[in-house]
Amino acid sequence: MQEYLNGLNEPQREAVTHIKGPLMIVAGAGSGKTKVLTTRIAHLMNNGVDAFNILALTFTNKAAAEMKERIERILGNAEARNLYIGTFHSVFARILRAEAHRIGYPNSFTIYDTDDSRSVIKTVVNELNLDDKHYKPNVVGSRISSAKNALVGPAEYATDYYIQQEDMRANRPAIAQIYAAYANRCFKNGAMDFDDLLLKMYELLKNFPEVLHKYQHKFKYILIDEYQDTNPVQYQITKLLAAVHENICVVGDDAQSIYSFRGATIENILQFQKDYDDVKVVKLEQNYRSSQNIIHVANEVIKNNKGQIPKNLWTENKQGDKIVLVRTMTDNDEGRFVADCIQEQKLRYHFYNKDFAILYRTNAQSRSFEESLRRMGIAYRIYGGVSFYQRKEVKDFLAYLRVIANTRDEEALKRIINYPVRGIGKTTIEKCVIAANEQNISMYEVVSRAGEFGFKAGTLEALQNFHTMIRYFQSMLTNTNAYDVAIQVGKHTNLVKELFNDKTTEGLARYENIQELLNSIKEWTESPSNEDGELGDKSLGSYLQQITLLTDADDDKGEQDAVKMMTIHAAKGLEFECVFVGGVEETLFPSGMSINTREELEEERRLFYVAVTRAKQKLWLTYANARYRFGQLVQNDPSRFIEEMPEQYIDKTYAGGGARNNAGSDMGSAFERMQRGFGFGGSSNAAAAERKYGPPPSRKPSSKPEYLPVQPPAAKVVAHVPSADFVASDTSQLQAGQKVEHQKFGFGTVSSVEGSAHNPVATIQFEKNGEKKIMLNYAKLRIV
Ligand code: ATP
Ligand code: MG
Repeated sequence: MQEYLNGLNEPQREAVTHIKGPLMIVAGAGSGKTKVLTTRIAHLMNNGVDAFNILALTFTNKAAAEMKERIERILGNAEARNLYIGTFHSVFARILRAEAHRIGYPNSFTIYDTDDSRSVIKTVVNELNLDDKHYKPNVVGSRISSAKNALVGPAEYATDYYIQQEDMRANRPAIAQIYAAYANRCFKNGAMDFDDLLLKMYELLKNFPEVLHKYQHKFKYILIDEYQDTNPVQYQITKLLAAVHENICVVGDDAQSIYSFRGATIENILQFQKDYDDVKVVKLEQNYRSSQNIIHVANEVIKNNKGQIPKNLWTENKQGDKIVLVRTMTDNDEGRFVADCIQEQKLRYHFYNKDFAILYRTNAQSRSFEESLRRMGIAYRIYGGVSFYQRKEVKDFLAYLRVIANTRDEEALKRIINYPVRGIGKTTIEKCVIAANEQNISMYEVVSRAGEFGFKAGTLEALQNFHTMIRYFQSMLTNTNAYDVAIQVGKHTNLVKELFNDKTTEGLARYENIQELLNSIKEWTESPSNEDGELGDKSLGSYLQQITLLTDADDDKGEQDAVKMMTIHAAKGLEFECVFVGGVEETLFPSGMSINTREELEEERRLFYVAVTRAKQKLWLTYANARYRFGQLVQNDPSRFIEEMPEQYIDKTYAGGGARNNAGSDMGSAFERMQRGFGFGGSSNAAAAERKYGPPPSRKPSSKPEYLPVQPPAAKVVAHVPSADFVASDTSQLQAGQKVEHQKFGFGTVSSVEGSAHNPVATIQFEKNGEKKIMLNYAKLRIV
């Protein structure tokens, strides 16, 4: 027997050596599905199948590269490079490059990323004389994306009764029209968006029999990993391709289906058995990855989902450590705990940085972990998502700071000169660039001397206003720290307000990221520069320098000894010795937007299952009592998933904050601070600037005492939005024995008030919710 078969268990070997005909492997996490797929490819090649005839679809490009490498190792030659292996998108893009001319696209078509695609939608909306505030590019874009993934083209979209009803209900009847115009525009530009890579591939196979024939005979063997997450268009394409030879092998786990929001459906697994005669089904139940404790916990939690395909996942591995459940005061404490813990584990058990993964539900959560790891000098790398400082909105904001610090930074200037929109259009920008080149001066100098360049009156005014604003910020530079400048930028540019008003999921994430950025600048500004506690140089220039260095380090793509950070979605299929899952709190995980139906909640639970089953040896689940979200300090209960884990497998611990909290972490949301700071005129320098340049347009004097919670401009969060009543009450006089009402915890009696005068903390005995410690600066409390 070939050596590579020796290491497999019986059902695994059965799956690997089943060469002809459809094969489905449904199995739990860590049971060797991906290993089977890889070994099967090697086995096929070993049995005379040409690498050119094998198509393998994986979940990430990284997984594809790893598979190739492993296959080469098994076979000991370089044949593996001839495999067609990669993600659906990358493999189809490759095929489309060869065939695109047939459907009227240039073979060198452009691929639009989400940003490009949203910007085209916006253009189209405006050209149709529709309001892009109502027909928001994100909202329209996600509708179009869903349609494409369900194989619904513009014509069908416009005539489908249910789709039309849905759009009417949302008061957006013109989406069909926008969809058609958008598709036309992309076609005219010779561009495909991500969804087109699937849709056009399907159309190509459907409408060109000779193309279908060619690829059906090329790909005699098809293998698909993570089949539970394929959507209808992916399903249809693979069905077409496999129709002649029917050598299709799919592996998946219904308990790990986590992409239904992108149109993936578990039905594909169930349908597979109906699509082909004689499907061989193999079940794998032995887990080789995780400790017994981890497997028990994962099994118990997923049991709460109805309608899973029954599986009995077990392991011969050691019982292992208990799962550690960690409560912290704030998200910053959570970050600190994780960094401390990594340091300690490394010393005690000889782990390396790369043995650790930090997983989270939303990208914005990475910030507090990044900060703490950075402070401890622990190398980290963010996978899948964009590093925090590379995200568009963060870059936009930083671009303002860059221009203020150095007006010659033309890239930064171009980024923000008309963002948010202020009437400085493309033509004007081009004109500025040309004039700058002609006169050999910077683009900013052209802007600053706009009067000399013959701009039309309206444009001239817009340029001058922009220039005045930047000068106002610059006037603060000499005596003001980076945070004070940043706060003024957030206020005067309307950047924060713009993001705040964008109510889509992405808008929300962007808004949160800016809050995170402001929080971090604040913390940097207030933290000592050395161990002696000296504050050091806290100027904007100094801040930008350290951010730039951080970004450079992030770009290092080499295999480093670094802690891995990613969302749980991006962690699918991967494994790590030690895993931290952060933010295991109600409204965050499960997400507050996914608790309204059983289906949504079950998908969150599957996501939890995915997170837990990434760990080989050690697992920590952390949750913070309070974290900054949506511009305010939000108090959360622990996730309901925690209650679903049997106590016997768990160690609970409190890693707490308290004295270790520095002021920066407890000062309220950046948004509040922004408003407060502004209400008081900010720093003396801001006042000086105002005397010189006049008051900034939206400034309102405020008589509110400092540290009183300020209500955000509009209700953004469904839960935890303080009503005017709750916010307005003055809780500074609170004393033991008083009765209060908390917006979330209900009625209670104050037992004691402690903490500093600036940051008092009350212990309150709530009638229904027991004893809680409440930070009065942020409490939604009312004295009754
Ligand atoms: P997931 O559901 O997370 O994608 P999976 O089912 O694809 O997991 P793999 O990643 O293939 O599982 O395998 C999990 C771990 O178990 C890997 O480290 C793999 O090398 C190991 N493994 C799988 N089968 C065996 C085996 N028969 N003997 C020893 N180790 C194995
Ligand atoms: Mg796998």
